[in-house]
Amino acid sequence: MCSTQQLLNKVAKSPARLTGKVTPSFYDIKIIPDIAAATFCGEETITLYLQEAVSVIVIHAAELTISKAVLRNDAGSSFISTVSFDEEKQQALISLEGSAGPGEWFLHLSFQGILNNRLRGFYRSSFRDADGSEKLIATTKFEPSDARRAFPCFDEPEFKAVFQISLLVDKGLTAISNSPINSEREMEGGKKLVSFAPSLKMSSYLVAYVVGDFSASEPVFTKSSVPIRVCCVPGKKHLTAYALKWAKFSIDFFADYFGIDYQGAKLDLIAIPDFASGAMENFGAITFRETALLLDETQATHAELMRVAEVVCHENAHMWFGDLVTMDWWNGLWLNEAFATFMAALAVQAFMPSWKFFEGFNIFKAGAMRIDGLHSSRSIEFPVESPEDARAMFDVLTYEKGCAILRMLELYIGEEVFRQGCATYMKRHACLNTETADLWNALAEAVRNAGLSIPVDELMDTWVFQQGFPLVSVERAESEGVIILRQRPFRYLDEGSTPQGLWYVPIAIRAGTSDGIIEKVFLLKQTEQRFYVGENLKWIVINADGQGFYRVSYADELAQQLLSHLSELSAPERFNLASDLWAATQAGHLTLDAYLARLRIVLSEETDSHVFALAINSIGYLRRICAAGGPEHFNDLVNLAKQLFEPALIRLGWEPKASESPQDAELRASLVSTLGSLGEKSCCQKVESLWKQYLSDRKSVSTNLLPALVETTASHGDASCYDQMLKLKESASTPQEETRFLFALSHFRHPELIERTLASSLNGQIRVQDVPQMIRSLFLNPTGGLATWNFVKAHWDKMVATIPLQGIIRLCDGITALVNPELEPELKEFFATHNIKGNEKALAQNLETLTIANRFLLREREQLGSVLAKNTR
Ligand SMILES: [Zn+2]
Repeated sequence: MCSTQQLLNKVAKSPARLTGKVTPSFYDIKIIPDIAAATFCGEETITLYLQEAVSVIVIHAAELTISKAVLRNDAGSSFISTVSFDEEKQQALISLEGSAGPGEWFLHLSFQGILNNRLRGFYRSSFRDADGSEKLIATTKFEPSDARRAFPCFDEPEFKAVFQISLLVDKGLTAISNSPINSEREMEGGKKLVSFAPSLKMSSYLVAYVVGDFSASEPVFTKSSVPIRVCCVPGKKHLTAYALKWAKFSIDFFADYFGIDYQGAKLDLIAIPDFASGAMENFGAITFRETALLLDETQATHAELMRVAEVVCHENAHMWFGDLVTMDWWNGLWLNEAFATFMAALAVQAFMPSWKFFEGFNIFKAGAMRIDGLHSSRSIEFPVESPEDARAMFDVLTYEKGCAILRMLELYIGEEVFRQGCATYMKRHACLNTETADLWNALAEAVRNAGLSIPVDELMDTWVFQQGFPLVSVERAESEGVIILRQRPFRYLDEGSTPQGLWYVPIAIRAGTSDGIIEKVFLLKQTEQRFYVGENLKWIVINADGQGFYRVSYADELAQQLLSHLSELSAPERFNLASDLWAATQAGHLTLDAYLARLRIVLSEETDSHVFALAINSIGYLRRICAAGGPEHFNDLVNLAKQLFEPALIRLGWEPKASESPQDAELRASLVSTLGSLGEKSCCQKVESLWKQYLSDRKSVSTNLLPALVETTASHGDASCYDQMLKLKESASTPQEETRFLFALSHFRHPELIERTLASSLNGQIRVQDVPQMIRSLFLNPTGGLATWNFVKAHWDKMVATIPLQGIIRLCDGITALVNPELEPELKEFFATHNIKGNEKALAQNLETLTIANRFLLREREQLGSVLAKNTR
């Protein structure tokens, strides 16, 4: 993939970036926030190295003023400078009166800025204390490129430096930063000066400081005696034990895995009431949204327990992948994010094997494949020029596809070989920056040391530098025991031209023969290859264990054999079978009729929650198709869902069993919410009685079932029920409970209640951090799609002005629910003139997804009624 690599290198030298002729090594920064006035001022001295003589120093700065700039060196030379700004490039140009020669210099800057409300840079958050009065917090979130909103800096990941921070704050407040406190000095005017120890040598986007009324848990200690604390606003300290447990386990786990101890002198995990994403891996001071960190283990659902565990492990993994070793530039973001996702999976799997993390991960992998099957997808490594481009990289392709291909490689070369490669990479590049090739070199070395001959770089380049993934078709060859495998790119839309692409696909197979089970692994490198499996084949499964990132299409005969040997398949294999069938149906390769007939066979004996999740997802899709293309067939759809899902619900029963797995508890809840949301009568009656029971005794209903009860109740609820949910939200005792009742508001279907929720999303009643998810959920509301679309159109400018970019991207995801061929041109027209920079790729993906659904509708509309009726018989 030489040409792609060259392209990326070329973009890396784009004019939007700093030249590298001036490099920082040390920042001494003092910040003085005025939280009430929403402003701050600061002073910094940056130790610089000039490679050659310069008369202008270019540094990043945005929404800042710089009132003073002086450059001096130890030889006594000094320059007074004038400062101008290039707003588009977010740069300050510091023009010297003369020219400074090569060598070490000290740049002293005085600057002023605003504490914004947009959850980026240095911003304000708030909470209500026990008396109900509002308290303010000042906090930071810099990734990818918002450190420049807090202090002038060389704001690109390759300019690693040591940061020494001090904060002048009110005496009663707590100040936290990346490193431990070195000293605290009382100052006049009720202030104190908190000085932190110098940081690890790191990128600017990893700097953090937080000021407010915070309390901290007692520390727990890692194996190497580093204290870990969880910090939160007052009144929530009792929700910190669960995260602490995971934090300690994962730090020790990663230290063993890499053979390198955590490099900080302390680690704080800080819950921030307003936070744009899930969490941010600032070295030594990781910030989280409250729901991703604080939790009451006795009152949380399995999904909520899993989320906190996963986010804590993910962020802790970043202390190595991301913070200690950092990508050169944002095109390599996957080196951070795919690895953190993957390492978190390993840690969760190790701590709680019964959760079967990688089986559940298949659902996320399917989400990445949904995007990666689009023409508008992108390669994992992708040219990044501007900060907006960088922000758009935080998507399922970077995280989930990246994680999935790492898992595929790990299983192919072996877990221990893979670990050794990662450890080498980490040791070799500690405190430095890397490119993808550095990782392949380290892994290839481990592969060679193990005596294997696997071309790691050639293999992985086909997955990292090329968009999409293959559809592998399989059929029997004429000679006994031989199969023919073919690969071609999988796309939902066939636009006439055949898409190009060739991958190195590790293909694990398992086959049943009259002599027993055969397991083999092949490497498919060409468009067509023959492989000898073994004689007397009764059935064969391709992508055995289900961890490969590709889809499979079986020749009819093999598909039938597989369907009659389902009990031979593992749960991930059955998941992939159903997932591949559904993708083929959406792409028009399989009729809806054939899909439903096969799904009925798959589900007839099914017990796995993930296979059901896939089926439930496809029924949800059909519901939208039905609403747009034949509402008169809705009853048939409800009957179909009842036939598919009720037997599993009856098997599980409504009462949780003492010995049941968390997956069973989740399955029960998703079956109830599916049937309940469709208005299936007996399910709704049972939900109604359980909801009454819950209101009179909160402990009488299983927590795992509660989200399904809330959603179903809201789906069919009236205005008084709406007020009740609001009250429950106000009195919630955990962040998870608060979120549950908050998002219940998006499920009410009465038009007035939909309008009420829409209005509250922009009038300050709902926190900005929750607005994108709320609007997205309203798009998915069976009666809310159009009203939400009209609202978004009417308030687009205001949304763009108040919601962070990643929120806009998330919110726009909801338009995929607007299935209606007549509406499609209007959507395209609107976004042709109303989009924002950074959202282009995601938006194109949403619009293409919508086109796929509309074509599905046009293809199946005529026979929809008869197909649904036939398959409910
Ligand atoms: Zn991450």
